[in-house]
Amino acid sequence: MGEYNEYRKSWIKRETPIAKRTRAAKVFRILHKENPESKTALHFKTPMQLLAAVILSAQSTDKKVNEITDGHLFKKYKTPKDFARANPKTFEKEISQLGLYKSKAKAILTSASMIQQKFGGKLPRTMESMLTLRGVARKTANIVLWNAYGVIAGIAVDTHARRLAQRLGFTDQDDPKKIEKDLMALVPQKKLWPKVNTLLVDLGRSTCIAQSPKCAQCPLNKLCPSSRV
Ligand code: SF4
Repeated sequence: MGEYNEYRKSWIKRETPIAKRTRAAKVFRILHKENPESKTALHFKTPMQLLAAVILSAQSTDKKVNEITDGHLFKKYKTPKDFARANPKTFEKEISQLGLYKSKAKAILTSASMIQQKFGGKLPRTMESMLTLRGVARKTANIVLWNAYGVIAGIAVDTHARRLAQRLGFTDQDDPKKIEKDLMALVPQKKLWPKVNTLLVDLGRSTCIAQSPKCAQCPLNKLCPSSRV
């Protein structure tokens, strides 16, 4: 383990900012070529359903969230009005298979009421307004703005994107906001930002797994300072 850390440190130390940007461009080119259809795995039909799905996905797998939302939840709740009218106890019960279900129910139903009262029943289309909703931080706002409206405001940094950005030596930060800033500086083409998240998430799920990264099978193993190959 120690020798990898030393190798990683010396790689990052000797890499110039230009070389890092060039390497980042190669990384995302390779990932895009391998996975051109990469997109959010969450199921939804309306912007409000997407907001609810992203909130539900915190510390839960997308697969589990889809099971619940496909099963019954999104047949019953489609618009902010539907969610705002929900009985809180019933709603909690409907999502109780997920961890943190009480705080997730509170965030979704409060956000839906805020959307009704402050935004005329429509999910807002700006980062600033999205961040006023309960339980909505930049990650959620970035995913919802892009997938619901095609608005690009930044790069969503979730647990996979954070781990991958760190292992790839694209950031030495731990705070998602600072990691997002580092990634945005490394990928100057704004139109690529939505892909940066989904490509990192897909690689994080399939290959660069938290406990045991499969570096031998990774298409980035020659470009990654944390590669064990
Ligand atoms: S080479 Fe290994 S550590 Fe680097 S991104 Fe691939 S799986 Fe992760």
